[in-house]
Amino acid sequence: MKALIIDNSQSYAMQLSKILSESHIDSDTCTCISDATANCENQNYEFICTSLVLEDGSGLDFAERFRQRWPEITTAIYLITSNEGMYRERSWIKSGITDVFFKSDIDRFTLELHSLARLQIKKDVSGKVLYVEDSRAESMRTTLILENMGLEVEHYDNAEEAWECFMHKGGIDLVITDLMLSGLMTGLSLVRCIRGINSKADHDGWVPILGVTGFDDVSRRIDLYSAGIDDYVAKPTIETELIARVSNLIVLKKLFDQVATQQAELVEQASIDMLTSCLNRRSFLDIAEKYMAQTNRNKHCISLFYLDVDYFKNINDTYGHAKGDEVLVQLGELLRNDCRDGDVVARFGGEEFVMLLPQCNAEDASRYAENLRKKISRTYKDNITITASIGISTFETGMSGNIDSLIASADNALLLAKGHGRDRVVFQEHRALTMRTNFG
Ligand code: GH3
Ligand code: MG
Ligand code: MG
Ligand code: MG
Repeated sequence: MKALIIDNSQSYAMQLSKILSESHIDSDTCTCISDATANCENQNYEFICTSLVLEDGSGLDFAERFRQRWPEITTAIYLITSNEGMYRERSWIKSGITDVFFKSDIDRFTLELHSLARLQIKKDVSGKVLYVEDSRAESMRTTLILENMGLEVEHYDNAEEAWECFMHKGGIDLVITDLMLSGLMTGLSLVRCIRGINSKADHDGWVPILGVTGFDDVSRRIDLYSAGIDDYVAKPTIETELIARVSNLIVLKKLFDQVATQQAELVEQASIDMLTSCLNRRSFLDIAEKYMAQTNRNKHCISLFYLDVDYFKNINDTYGHAKGDEVLVQLGELLRNDCRDGDVVARFGGEEFVMLLPQCNAEDASRYAENLRKKISRTYKDNITITASIGISTFETGMSGNIDSLIASADNALLLAKGHGRDRVVFQEHRALTMRTNFG
């Protein structure tokens, strides 16, 4: 970031240059309009500070000449003066000066510098832009501006290919589209297509859209806004305006992504047991209901284990609650790692776990539970040994029922396992089950 200081007093120019460098802004200094103009021919300045009285004219003359000579350049020109009457006269506005600062109130100028430095930071954004523009000259210029901002640009001259890219490549942080394009599809229909599948209400993966068009009339703008654009710039685009709008939208998109991630984390926190990382009771019941409906619909079999650690109270009493927690963590890990993909493991409460095993019949379930029981009764950290009792219940192919009855039967079986001395597996036959007929 570089600025130009024009002041007929060398010492004041140096003082200003020092203030700028404190805001990490480099500067060139000169004392007259002709040197300043020569400097501007060779260098693009982020902004220019001029005093009122110069060796070969006034700061207002410089601004007027600068604006006439480079009408397309929007560089800010600040007048720094001790003449407060100047401000009230307002002639500085006509000459093209951006703002006036008084030498007596240099603090306000320093504040302004901070916000300029922030604008510079805004220019340095990261992300991927899908840019649709059929004019070669316009697209080359804009692509350069966007790339200079640090953005990755995927450019198309037609909406058909841009839509393909949006649908299949993904990872787009901003769409910039012209209205009239070289294919059969307009920018307006591209915006409608994108919003058809991607609205702000989706939260998940929303992408901002910036509309650009040469037809700068109200009805066009309304069409674009109603189709779902978030912001708009008229062509020919002004570099600084484009940069400001693009960075605002990218920042908004990043905030949206952050909110979506936080939301997903909240959902996960609400469904996962914090100690063992298994599902919690509530989310288990939600998921299990869906599994049961699918099982009943497809007339598949399904089994459930109700597992309870034996004499866990003794573990806490002997080794302390923290060690007890560690054992539960290890046990949860073992259950999650040991089961098949598609099996559902949950901590049902305290030292009790349930496992739902879709398409697993009674015989396979009993064999698997026995293996699991043996794996559980091993030595845990710090020489702690535990055993567990497992109650099993199964809906064989053609039986139908709900998750509550499957859990109730497994819980009954668990009680029997405990009653028969613990560290064992018990299978519970279903008594009150409806057998499906072939016509049912
Ligand atoms: P049983 O063989 O009959 O199941 O005996 P038990 O001691 O395992 O059963 P009981 O229901 O008497 O005690 C369960 C113990 O589990 C008591 C409770 O303090 C402990 N417990 C429950 N939740 C946690 C936990 O999150 N961490 C720890 N460390 N202990 C827990
Ligand atoms: Mg066009
Ligand atoms: Mg218990
Ligand atoms: Mg227990």
